[in-house]
Amino acid sequence: MQPISYSRAADTATAVAAVSADPTSDFLAGGTTEIDLLRQNVLHPRRLVDINHLPLAGVEPTPEGGLRIGALARMSEVAASPLVRERFPLICQALELGASAQLRHMASMGGNLLQRVRCSYYRDARSPCNKRDPGTGCSAREGFSRGHAVLGASEHCIAAHPSDVAVALMAVDARVHTLGPQGERAYAFDDFFLLPGDSPHREHPMEHGELITAIEVPAMPLARHSLYLKVRDRESYEFALTSVAAALSLVDGTIADVRVALGGVATKPWRARRAEDFLIGARAIPENFDQAARAELAAARPTPMNAFKVELTRRAVVRALQTLTGDGTGSPA
Ligand code: SF4
Repeated sequence: MQPISYSRAADTATAVAAVSADPTSDFLAGGTTEIDLLRQNVLHPRRLVDINHLPLAGVEPTPEGGLRIGALARMSEVAASPLVRERFPLICQALELGASAQLRHMASMGGNLLQRVRCSYYRDARSPCNKRDPGTGCSAREGFSRGHAVLGASEHCIAAHPSDVAVALMAVDARVHTLGPQGERAYAFDDFFLLPGDSPHREHPMEHGELITAIEVPAMPLARHSLYLKVRDRESYEFALTSVAAALSLVDGTIADVRVALGGVATKPWRARRAEDFLIGARAIPENFDQAARAELAAARPTPMNAFKVELTRRAVVRALQTLTGDGTGSPA
């Protein structure tokens, strides 16, 4: 490993200026992804600017009834917030089902959104990987792809986005606030995550030196009746094979409003808009949940190794919606 210089910025603007001015530098927050990738010889920054002491933590209510989550709030802090638990239970559930207790105490919310893929080829510096080394090829396409994406993939990359909480935030129309060399910006959540296309190394629209400062969650009464369902190979400390974030309101047995997002099956946190379009105005019955899931998954392009995810996701969507409407197992509300 090459030598790395380390510094602590005095304030947010100084941190942004320091990283912007040096293309070999990077921010250091919780470090739960960054340090792993340094050790694995995947990332090679020459300078790390520690931002952990900057005043970007905390969870606050907004006057409109939403939330403002500081980029440096730890996953465990947000999961334990009574405010989040009351207004957005799907966010708490997604956080509590992610990583391990130790990692949740360290990992920041901003870092969670920027965490890198878990594709084993990406993390093996000897394997061709377009995301790590553009133009070298995608080892997963002909290799081991059981955990990879079935939605949003390209011929250049099929890695699944690994975050749980980003799926919940996608369902509730969150926005990402940043400070960069050009000043403050705000991104709609869907715009903040890029599809791989022919440039999978570019995962976000931010420029070098741009720093996430907060995540804003708009008021959404619907989200008080919401859940995050995660399906994985073992019950703790494991990434999703598939996951569903859902919120729903009913009027006389008809779906008045609904949000559905999928995780573990797509190259970005996946808003299931086709499923939502099918469900709004439909009767809340399992047959319609099934049709909605099929409508969303019609675009799936699995590999022979991960084709099971299509059926697993169809079942997970039905189960999540049945649970929310009081007709499934383990009703959360
Ligand atoms: Fe790299 Fe993406 Fe292919 Fe994995 S799926 S080897 S991350 S290009």
